[in-house]
Amino acid sequence: MTSLVRVNGAKAMAASVALVFAVVAWMARDPLAPEPLPSLESLNVIVIVIDTFGSEHAGGFHNPGLDHTPALDRLAQRGVVFRSAFAPAPWTQPSVASLFTSLMPSQHGVKSFGDHLPEDVETLAAQLKARGFKTGAVISNQGLVSPFGFASGFDWYDQSSAKGHEAITSNDVTDTAISWVDRNRDSRFFLFAHYFDPHYQYHQHPEHDLSSGYDGPLRTGMSIRELRDRRTEMSRDDIDFLIALHREEIAYTDGQVGRLLDHLAATGLEERTLVVLTSDHGEEFMRHGWIGHTRTLYDELMRVPLIVSLPGAIAPGVSDAPVSILDILPTILELSESPPARPNWTGRSLLPILTGADAGDADREILGEVSYDMPARIKKDREKVARMTSLLVGDFKLIHDLIADEWKLFDLDADPEELTNLYDHDHPAVMRWRPVLERWEATRDRVGRDAPRRELSDAEIERLRGLGYVR
Ligand SMILES: [Zn+2]
Repeated sequence: MTSLVRVNGAKAMAASVALVFAVVAWMARDPLAPEPLPSLESLNVIVIVIDTFGSEHAGGFHNPGLDHTPALDRLAQRGVVFRSAFAPAPWTQPSVASLFTSLMPSQHGVKSFGDHLPEDVETLAAQLKARGFKTGAVISNQGLVSPFGFASGFDWYDQSSAKGHEAITSNDVTDTAISWVDRNRDSRFFLFAHYFDPHYQYHQHPEHDLSSGYDGPLRTGMSIRELRDRRTEMSRDDIDFLIALHREEIAYTDGQVGRLLDHLAATGLEERTLVVLTSDHGEEFMRHGWIGHTRTLYDELMRVPLIVSLPGAIAPGVSDAPVSILDILPTILELSESPPARPNWTGRSLLPILTGADAGDADREILGEVSYDMPARIKKDREKVARMTSLLVGDFKLIHDLIADEWKLFDLDADPEELTNLYDHDHPAVMRWRPVLERWEATRDRVGRDAPRRELSDAEIERLRGLGYVR
């Protein structure tokens, strides 16, 4: 089921299971005769990342019946929704570094706490800057601040909203993004806008009213450490309350992303601005015994929304082809009149899917990896240390825990929550795919790299402790 379902005429009816959309202006367009896409040289590019936003917590564009992301639903109406998109890692730094470079974490080297994105790795921003784009970013996660190398290639890097887990920052991110766009609208520009609010702590946004009616012991804004300490005694109502708070944060962020998108429309930029919206990872709420992220490779952490929109050029639609956020950089650069001659991308361009030329590869191998550890000076929070790899092909997913030397196999069609481990040496999927994953592990051990690790200052360690990242 990988064909791109175009939202037009009768096909819209077929797509409407997942896309309960209003009439789309694009319905008049003939999707069988796509015109060539405009070149990168005539466009602006905006990449929006909503931190900690797994597909299962998205609104109607992913989950029929949920209506808490109206702005993203409108963006999805105008663009192509990839319903099987994956992050390469279950936490921010490796995942965003992969988005910026189209490399897996073991290839760019940002794998663990304190790792610095190497200066010789070419980022999307650097490549767009070299092509004449003004490059700007507004970020709100302290893991993405410039000392970790993430500002590479940006002319302007606003990190004034990176305030920690208790702050609500999406309003400021949008204000800052809009004023930068207004200052640069006469140039071609690339904007990276990063929203942090759905990340823990989970704060109530009463105007979205998803969490009211709960009368258990949990409260809005509790620290992640307190929630984890209570996790073994949580009831289903408690967990649902946390999910409702998380979705209120998503709903609030949706409104702020909507303000940025509305601004593009109101100022005439929409039709010459390629917008990509995604996330760096999801969040787990006790499905596998944990709250938060970083320590497993289950789908609640790896499956993320991905919408690509260029109204007037890319016809709206839905794709179930398995894709990766590593594909974002190749998709953008392949739009260029002169794309890089010998790119070292691990992702692949989505343009054939976006133009309807190709349905995508249903059996594409999607890799995941995590190598989460603490700097040597920090007392280890042993429960959070993780070293795993995963391989998803079709409905089967293999997970290899390299610390415990344990394997797991899940059939995502029969068991989408990955609760029943089918691993057996004789299982056909194990016999077929375990050697593939082992070969990749051997390759990355041979040619992978370690990033330069920054020695964290006492003040930084204290801040991480305050954020619940370290004990
Ligand atoms: Zn994140």
